[in-house]
Amino acid sequence: MNNLKWVFLKLTKGCPFRCTYCSVPQVDPQFAGFPIERGLRELEFLCRLGARHVAFYDDALLYQPHRILLPFLDAVIKRGFQVTFHTPNAMNARFITKELAERLVTAGFRTFFLGFESNAYEWQRKTGGQGLLARTRSCDR
Ligand code: SF4
Repeated sequence: MNNLKWVFLKLTKGCPFRCTYCSVPQVDPQFAGFPIERGLRELEFLCRLGARHVAFYDDALLYQPHRILLPFLDAVIKRGFQVTFHTPNAMNARFITKELAERLVTAGFRTFFLGFESNAYEWQRKTGGQGLLARTRSCDR
């Protein structure tokens, strides 16, 4: 049995935004969510290997949550995975709702990194503007 404690997981690829300084839209121009079952199978496999901490490295983890993250969290809660989730890649603060926050905590999220790109409104507007509403970083990283 492996002694694997920390692992990472991705539920999506790419990013729907187009910040001018970022390589993600160049490298992976099409944002897409992977099938929920795929993420759950991967998580199950990692847990069997001993994983206790799971870090998400999605670039837009909170984008279209009713289609991707929320069904995943519901399944995690229902199946009772005993892991702690983390978001070192940072999340986009403007997408966090009360419903989503509650579900994240219930599913086992314990660290919440929020992106902060700039407090210069004009610069942020010119380079993508994703974070303007929340005045935080325009990125889910
Ligand atoms: S939101 Fe983040 S990952 Fe997406 S393009 Fe902007 S900087 Fe890149």
